[in-house]
Amino acid sequence: MKQLDTKRILVTGGAGFLGSHLCERLVADGHDVLCVDNFFTGAKVNLARVADRPGFELMRHDVTFPLYVEVDEIYNMACPASPIHYQHDPVQTTKTSVHGAINMLGLAKRVHARILQASTSEVYGDPSVHPQVEEYWGNVNPVGLRSCYDEGKRCAETLFFDYHRQHKLQIKVARIFNTYGPRMHPNDGRVVSNFIVQALRSEPITIYGDGSQTRSFCYVDDMVAALLALMNSAEHVTGPINIGNPCEFTMLELAQAVLDITGSKSKIVLQPLPVDDPRQRRPDIEKAQQLLGWAPKVSLKEGLSRTVEYFDQLLGVTKIAIAS
Ligand code: NAD
Ligand code: UDP
Ligand code: UDP
Repeated sequence: MKQLDTKRILVTGGAGFLGSHLCERLVADGHDVLCVDNFFTGAKVNLARVADRPGFELMRHDVTFPLYVEVDEIYNMACPASPIHYQHDPVQTTKTSVHGAINMLGLAKRVHARILQASTSEVYGDPSVHPQVEEYWGNVNPVGLRSCYDEGKRCAETLFFDYHRQHKLQIKVARIFNTYGPRMHPNDGRVVSNFIVQALRSEPITIYGDGSQTRSFCYVDDMVAALLALMNSAEHVTGPINIGNPCEFTMLELAQAVLDITGSKSKIVLQPLPVDDPRQRRPDIEKAQQLLGWAPKVSLKEGLSRTVEYFDQLLGVTKIAIAS
């Protein structure tokens, strides 16, 4: 017999990095989880730990097309997150954010589901307010290479708030800052995975620009805890709400931390800075602390160690597979 508090929960993009950790946690909490993914950047292997659990179901589907299912809650995570992936097919990236949001909001409206949007710190663009507070409207190039992601996510936020005002939907908008951990894609070009893979392979660590730009890195378990806290928060807590770890590091500091943890002898090399690369980024998380009672617990050193362990195993397995 089902427990009374068992919910039917849809996770779009559930086969990706964040989504797969979220699915695992929701299944562990006893919910019925429907994961929907088109496998553009995600993979079934990310869901190996839940694939055979009775409470878990996986559906291949692209959220730019309508979806008719019956659920109580929706976590809308579908969208490639790394610049290499989201710039590969920028039109599809915007469609995923915008058409995907419309379809999931339409679904939420029909079945009266509560819906959470995985938004991003990229809505602040290259910020002139530091640290970033939710009230800051951002500094985004509307026609650049990153715009398909940034403006797509901004439009999705607009749609969430219009469905909330116009159709009384229960919405939750999380502005997610850089998150890292096991199951990041080894080739997706994001800085944490790049540096760790390069260090483990004794290849040069590629710093773009002079390495003085900053980011604030949140470990995946802390992020999942915050997303759950937001979904389960009081109805009036709609966000947008910053979720991230406010400890800020330059890319040079990050490279050094990875070298220290791996003991690698990799050299640091400087490469050109990508266009529109934000100079600095750090969340103000006062709202998350006050409204959700949440704060990150995992330090960069601890989180990087766990991530290095994952990549160490992954690359080891790859070597064996190639050798055999
Ligand atoms: P990811 O690329 O690992 O996962 C995205 C998932 O969405 C993949 O499984 C992919 O196959 C799926 N997907 C993409 N387009 C789809 C479509 N049209 N239909 C169905 N599925 C589709 O990225 P992630 O890091 O896990 O990010 C998850 C979400 O969190 C994204 O919405 C991203 O914008 C947001 N986010 C992530 C970060 C971060 O640092 N990881 C930061 C800010 C926001
Ligand atoms: N939609 C969906 N699943 C549903 C209900 C709606 O995918 O269960 C999609 C549908 O394709 C629609 C969109 O969500 O285009 C927006 O729905 P809404 O009811 O807001 O608008 P309308 O149907 O009037 O276009
Ligand atoms: N970066 C870097 N070397 C790399 C990959 C990225 O120096 O091999 C830099 C990148 O230019 C940016 C920062 O690291 O300044 C974070 O990049 P990422 O793509 O991980 O995230 P985002 O720019 O979306 O925050």
